[in-house]
Amino acid sequence: MEKIVISGAGLVGAFWALALKKKGFEVELYEKRSDMREESADGGRSINLIATSRALNAFTAVGILEDIKKIVVPVTGRMMHSLEGELTYQPYGRDESECNYSVSRSLLNITLLNKAEEAGVKIFFSHDLESLDPDNGVAKFAGREVSFDRFFGADGAGSITRKELLRLMPEAKESVDFISSDYKELLMPATKEGDYPIEKKALHIWPRGNHFLMALPNLDGSFTMTMYLPKTGEDSFETLKTKEDVTAFFEKYYKSSIPHMPDFADDYFENPQGILGTVRMSHWAYKDKVALMGDAAHAVVPFFGQGMNCGMEDCFYLLSYMEKYGNDWAKIFSEYDRNQRPNGNAIADMALENFIEMQSKVADKKFLLKKAIEHKIENEFPTKYRARYGMVTYTLIPYATAKKAGLIQQEILEELAQGIEVVEQVDLKKAETLIDEKFVPFVNETGITLDRYQEGETPKYVS
Ligand SMILES: Cc1cc2nc3c(=O)[nH]c(=O)nc-3n(C[C@H](O)[C@H](O)[C@H](O)COP(=O)(O)OP(=O)(O)OC[C@H]3O[C@@H](n4cnc5c(N)ncnc54)[C@H](O)[C@@H]3O)c2cc1C
Repeated sequence: MEKIVISGAGLVGAFWALALKKKGFEVELYEKRSDMREESADGGRSINLIATSRALNAFTAVGILEDIKKIVVPVTGRMMHSLEGELTYQPYGRDESECNYSVSRSLLNITLLNKAEEAGVKIFFSHDLESLDPDNGVAKFAGREVSFDRFFGADGAGSITRKELLRLMPEAKESVDFISSDYKELLMPATKEGDYPIEKKALHIWPRGNHFLMALPNLDGSFTMTMYLPKTGEDSFETLKTKEDVTAFFEKYYKSSIPHMPDFADDYFENPQGILGTVRMSHWAYKDKVALMGDAAHAVVPFFGQGMNCGMEDCFYLLSYMEKYGNDWAKIFSEYDRNQRPNGNAIADMALENFIEMQSKVADKKFLLKKAIEHKIENEFPTKYRARYGMVTYTLIPYATAKKAGLIQQEILEELAQGIEVVEQVDLKKAETLIDEKFVPFVNETGITLDRYQEGETPKYVS
């Protein structure tokens, strides 16, 4: 039986180990850190993630969707909090059935580790990958040599697997680009009665130009808040040095959140400041021996909520090619590299675009008008129009195709927004003509289906 070794027991590594074990392989999973399950039974505090169609599809393929659904909170739209405390709700999808799932990263990781272990995966904690010799099928973890037939690098944005592939393939190139903002996690606790202090079914955003606060619900009535702020300059992490600075900053910009966040200033100084960046790599595989997946191949900024989703889709694509090519790993890896790498690059680009959008445009009138027009025409012409956000989030349309579709849609929305002030003035006849002329031919040509991926349906394997 083939022996598979995976480096990194984060979300993607743990899930992939489970998927391969279920396929009958001997699987060993190596993780640099100690066992997170021993640190805290509930996963402790962690960032929250949005799980959408691609992750759900992969979970379905491996038969764990129902287990995952027990640890998520459905979220149906964005709630914008203005400086004056006004609320504006923008539904995500065509209707409330199109929702995202908020989940604690550590709770999800623990669930996946438990599932992998139950299935028979051998997990080695405190074992960091040091070097890789794929041609001889040997990796070194914490000074120990481990043999393998196939090796997967799921060791995150700072991947040693990736560094080793760069060494082995002089033609390979990586790029690692950090953005000018960092993030910090804060907590909005549940009320004394254990209820959610603000609307439970929404992702909340307090957009304030070049910084913003975001909230995602947890299972226990609390919200995990993430503050995105420039590293330097006026209003930046650099300028918030004392509790008084942080309190004054919140009073000025995030006043409506303060009554619900008694400990924000303490949280600010207790919690680490995280960095955000994009990793791209020109080769995701080495011969028929090694493949990169998850953030090791394509770390993206979190502003489309797709980093983990894309990592789960990597697993799904690999599974589909394994089904197609059996044991021919050279073909499996080359098709994975050819098809999924452009998708990784596309979601990286779209996430960066959303960074700009969420920073400033969410408070821009023309932008909000175009969003409203898009929501209207999407509901009016559901069989022939689907917003890019919905394509990325609710369908399995490849990211690269969704990105191209988005460019055509911008042209349509730009034309429709010309000369009008409010969405009620939009000319629906003109909208249909534009859709028929510009968007429908693209849909036909690419053969995509605009229908939502139905959770629980038999996964469609990629062709
Ligand atoms: C603020 C924020 C919000 C986010 N929101 C979303 C969201 O809403 N939706 C979404 O889909 N994604 C989101 N993401 C992205 C998501 O968290 C990542 O894409 C996902 O965690 C990647 O999983 P991974 O397993 O590839 O990598 P990681 O989670 O980084 O796991 C890598 C693992 O490898 C281990 N490791 C590292 N080096 C070695 C080594 N040398 N040897 C052995 N083990 C090693 C690490 O300890 C770690 O356990 C967000 C990210 C951030 C920062």
